[in-house]
Amino acid sequence: MRIRKLGSTLIVLALLAGSLYAFREPISLFVAKRVTAQRMSSNPIKDLPDGLHIAVCGAGSPMPDDQRGGPCTLVIAGQQLFVFDSGNTSARNINKMGFNAGNIQGIFLTHFHSDHIDGLGELLLQRWVSNSNAQPVNVHGPEGVATVVNGLMQAYSLDRGYRVAHHGEAVLPQSGFGAVPKTFGLQDDKATLVFESPDTQIYAFSVSHAPIHPAVGYKIKYKDRSIVISGDTTPSAHVEREAKGVDVLMHEAMSMEMMTILQEGAQLAKRDKLEQLMKDITNYHTSPVEAAQIASKAEVGYLMLHHIAPPLPLPGLVDIFLKGTDKAFKGKIQVAKDGDVLSLPAGQKSIQPSSRF
Ligand SMILES: [Zn+2]
Ligand SMILES: [Zn+2]
Repeated sequence: MRIRKLGSTLIVLALLAGSLYAFREPISLFVAKRVTAQRMSSNPIKDLPDGLHIAVCGAGSPMPDDQRGGPCTLVIAGQQLFVFDSGNTSARNINKMGFNAGNIQGIFLTHFHSDHIDGLGELLLQRWVSNSNAQPVNVHGPEGVATVVNGLMQAYSLDRGYRVAHHGEAVLPQSGFGAVPKTFGLQDDKATLVFESPDTQIYAFSVSHAPIHPAVGYKIKYKDRSIVISGDTTPSAHVEREAKGVDVLMHEAMSMEMMTILQEGAQLAKRDKLEQLMKDITNYHTSPVEAAQIASKAEVGYLMLHHIAPPLPLPGLVDIFLKGTDKAFKGKIQVAKDGDVLSLPAGQKSIQPSSRF
C-alpha cells in the first residue's frame, strides 16, 4: 500500500516538474517582472528600524573569495547611507542587497591600497546615474584622498561626456558627476570628528599599517548606538581605545596559520618572489585571536571579523580561521560574508544579525 502511495506521489511530482519545465519561459518572465517592479520601488532604508545598521558590501581582501568581495561596508544611520571603503564589488553588492547607490550621502576611505579603492570609480558612477544626482558626493579620507578622487574623475571624464550626450542634461546633470575629496587631519591622542549631522558623528583615528601612512579606522555614532571599523592594521592601541564600550567592533582579520599554506604552495611551485610577497603581507595585519583580544580588552559585546584573508572556500576552514578566538573573547563573534547585516535599533541594546543575500 505504502509503496503504491509513494509511486503515485513520485508520478505527480514528475508531472509537476515536467509542466514547470514546459512553462519555464512564461514563469520566469512573470517572476522577473514582479521582482524588477518590486526592486525599483523599494527603499530598504525606510523599512529598517530607526538606528545604526551595518550591511557588508565586501567582506574580503585582494584574494578571490566567492563569498567575499573587496572591502566595503555600508552604514545606515537613521535615514543616511554611508560607505566605508570601496573594493571591487561595492556597487554590485550594494545593488544586490537592494540599496540604491544614488542615495549615498558620504564615502569614507581608510587608506589607499588598491583593494580599498578599486570599486570607487564605478560606485561614483552608479551614485550619479541611479538618482540623477545634481551634486557630487563627498569622499572623506586622510592626506592622499584628493589624488585618488581627482585621478578617478579624470579617468571617468570621457564616460561622463558619453552619458550626458546619450541621456541628456535633464536625466544626468553634468554637475552631479563624481565626487569632491574632503581631506582631514589626524591627532595622535584622540580621534578627529570628520562628519556631523543631527544624531550622527563620524570620527577618524590613525591605525598601524606601516609602511602605509596614513591609514585610519572610523567610529560611527548614531543616537545611543556606535560601531568601530578598524581599517587595515596590526593590533592597534588606537582601535582598542576607540572601541571601548561600542556596540560592534568590525575588525580586519588574517589567519597567519593559513597564510603559511599559501607560502608553502608558492615554495613548492618554486615561485620565491610570490613566497616573499605572501610572507610580507602577514606583517601589517591582525590575526583573528589578536582581534578577539582587542574586542575583549575594549569590552565590546559583538565582534565582526571582515577583510577576511586568506579566502575560506570550505566550511571547515572557518573553524580553523577562528581557532583560539573563543578563549580570547567571550562575546559574539562573526566571520563576515557579503550581504551580512547587523541591525542596532536606537534606544535598545539588541544587535540583530541577518543577511540580504
Ligand atoms: Zn591595506
Ligand atoms: Zn586591504
